[in-house]
Amino acid sequence: MSFSEIFRNYNWDDIKSRIYSKTSQDVENAISKPQRNLEDFMALISPAAAPYLEQMAQLSHKLTQKRFGKTIQMYIPMYLSNECQNICTYCGFSLDNKIPRRTLTEKEILSEITHIKAMGYDHILLVTGEANKTVGLEYFKKAFRLINPSFSHISLEVQPLDQHEYEELIPLGLNTVLVYQETYHQEDYKKHHPKGKKSNFDYRLETPDRLGRAGIHKIGLGVLFGLEDWRTDSFFTALHLQYLERKYWKTKYSISFPRLRPHAGGLTPKVEMTDRELVQLICAYRIFNEEVELSLSTRESNKFRDNVIKLGITSISAGSKTNPGGYANAPESLEQFEIDDQRSPAQIAEMLTRQGYEPVWKDWDRAYGGG
Ligand code: SF4
Repeated sequence: MSFSEIFRNYNWDDIKSRIYSKTSQDVENAISKPQRNLEDFMALISPAAAPYLEQMAQLSHKLTQKRFGKTIQMYIPMYLSNECQNICTYCGFSLDNKIPRRTLTEKEILSEITHIKAMGYDHILLVTGEANKTVGLEYFKKAFRLINPSFSHISLEVQPLDQHEYEELIPLGLNTVLVYQETYHQEDYKKHHPKGKKSNFDYRLETPDRLGRAGIHKIGLGVLFGLEDWRTDSFFTALHLQYLERKYWKTKYSISFPRLRPHAGGLTPKVEMTDRELVQLICAYRIFNEEVELSLSTRESNKFRDNVIKLGITSISAGSKTNPGGYANAPESLEQFEIDDQRSPAQIAEMLTRQGYEPVWKDWDRAYGGG
């Protein structure tokens, strides 16, 4: 059974009302149990859990240290292209935004590599819009051949691909694929993706299954907070995670927490997610799942990132540029979204060290992994 089939058995409104009817007793039970299920996760993300934030934070901190030690993985995005044939209401690269478009040439990719390596990185996240004719499998293959010799971990955040395409990229160095559903609310998904291939909800929903079958090392899940009720969307993310972990048990998983950020032609969030609520969610994921990696990008502020490091996060980016060619200097192409934490990787490393954490610049070595 694929995840789409499982997903059809759930009703958004029903899940939402179950989350909102959780009681303080449900929360206390969830906190005190040795293992938690999806019902407990619902309690932990419910409004009833708000007064238990301190307790949840302590437990989340403890579980994270037990599994991951005092380390934080460091990664940096490299935007290869801002060409996109989709309209997404929340994104600066949307087809209807009249911005200068560019796709990096081989020479420009090499130049970005030089700048990123100089910052100390060994884990890179490649990002593009969705322009299949110019930035499709052949382009990715060329990019991987250039990038692979310089990085020990390559992640990809691009349009969903077919299984055979992932299978062709894995031997070229592909380790991780991030594919966020944006929202599991099907009607709202349609509203936010009115044009282009991304409007196909099911194809996106089934992407982690294609990745699992392709034998990928790690899959990153998440939704974009601000589009719909964050609690219900997070339940569906956790449901997806649990399904994938059971079916593709050799694969590792991570969750990201993007909140809507300002961008060209910006969308006002339908649902505001406060800092306290984001902390609650990070802790809830950790208490629910001790293995999953939790990632926080430079979308968030310095203060927020500094404070949540200890609560369950296991990987962060630093010094990020969200425009193609941004490191080797390309001021003319617009960013996908504004970043908040503008500190350099060295400043972030120093902040981590001050808090007693060790920044880890790579978490994967082919000598051990055989990839
Ligand atoms: S979110 Fe992705 S697919 Fe949508 S407009 Fe932005 S780059 Fe394109």
